[in-house]
Amino acid sequence: MLAITFLTKSVQPKVSFKGAPSLNPEAYKRLGEIVQFQTVSYDDSSDGILKTIALKQLYIWMQNNYPLVFKNAKSHFIGTGSLILEFPGNNNSLKPAMFCAHLDVVPVDMENISKWKKAPFSGAIWNDTIYGRGVLDDKSVAISMLEVMEKRIAKKALNKRTILLAFGHDEETGGTNGAIKIAHYLLENKIQPEFICDEGFGVMEGLVPGVKKPVAIIGIAEKGYMTAKLEIALEGGHSSFPKKENATSILIKALQSVENMEMRETFCEPQQQFFRSIAPEANFGYRFLFSNMWIASPVIKMVLRGNNKTAATIRTTHATTIIRSGTKDNTLPGYAQAMVNFRILPGETVQSVYEHLKRTIADERVQIVLQPDTISPSPISSTKNLAWKWITETIGETFDGAVSAPGLVLTGTDCKNYTSVCKNIYRFVPLRLNNDNLGGIHGSNERIATGNFNEMIRYYELLFEKL
Ligand SMILES: [Zn+2]
Repeated sequence: MLAITFLTKSVQPKVSFKGAPSLNPEAYKRLGEIVQFQTVSYDDSSDGILKTIALKQLYIWMQNNYPLVFKNAKSHFIGTGSLILEFPGNNNSLKPAMFCAHLDVVPVDMENISKWKKAPFSGAIWNDTIYGRGVLDDKSVAISMLEVMEKRIAKKALNKRTILLAFGHDEETGGTNGAIKIAHYLLENKIQPEFICDEGFGVMEGLVPGVKKPVAIIGIAEKGYMTAKLEIALEGGHSSFPKKENATSILIKALQSVENMEMRETFCEPQQQFFRSIAPEANFGYRFLFSNMWIASPVIKMVLRGNNKTAATIRTTHATTIIRSGTKDNTLPGYAQAMVNFRILPGETVQSVYEHLKRTIADERVQIVLQPDTISPSPISSTKNLAWKWITETIGETFDGAVSAPGLVLTGTDCKNYTSVCKNIYRFVPLRLNNDNLGGIHGSNERIATGNFNEMIRYYELLFEKL
């Protein structure tokens, strides 16, 4: 085992860091400005008049600020507010590369407004930091890519393959009017990207145990999503003559079984690849564990089980999110309902989890109705192709000393809507994420250091050059 530990060789691409990126004060200003358009997605998935107006103004602003992009690229407005910018390549035999970013943001929690150092939609720049809702998720990605394309056109730099920038406008509510329509557009027009890049992970600092170097995790798959509605409909009655069971008591029993339900723990393929990639970069203890998975897996599982976030990487998780029952305090409930949300690990399917749930509840009176946004885990993208090589090389060139590793995305992204148009999907954006700034995503005081924003621009500059 010691021999295996020592023989574990680095799988990192042989590239060198290309030095500090240039400063882009004009781009900081533009990132600060795009934040000011309040393109907020609320949970009801309708776009709402305020968001529609904000999006319209945002696109006018974008056209004014990136005139060469809009003069040279073909613009395809999709659905109720999404946009594909198509930059034709000079070699028609090559399939296009598609890069996504979403222009909508989540609402600001007013209860925590005092935690923001600068107003959430101000886009204020202070102490080398840009503040505002969307500077991490995900407007900085859109701006970095636009900055690079504007410069490339000015320099008359030609790309070999067509580059597509796809901006969704409702990722935060599932992409129904954005990414799904973009996918339809691609299918209808027989556009099959060679690979797609979207959000997922970033350059994780101090977040991977045993590894001091920054770890750029590239999501090669994402968990599936399933919501099961448990429903019980019986005859009600007066509460002065309670029956042995009523709809609520049956639901409580079913939910108790669901709470105690054991889901299989396993290292799915993306997880195994993650461990193989970081093992050579880890300190001795972790290198030993990650290199000897065949014997060390019980210990690794025990460690991962100790934290909610890491526990979710080795099993399908479930949580009861909504319970409804009863209408009056003196009436026996004839109807009870609960929603149980599952995040499905690759290797399982919606059907297998549904069967497991049915066996666990084992009560015919409980109807299990799967909700429409249910989807099985995504396919797993390859790490043995040119796209992977380009992405990992560019990471090494941009982030000094960073290592790359494939990973599994635990939440849903727009990518789930693109699996029918492309099998090589990589969920990574060049954001440095650490315990200090991670809470800003969907939380308070969202901010990005101008230094990291320069790196983002550099990353897309170097990556687009390779295409
Ligand atoms: Zn996002």
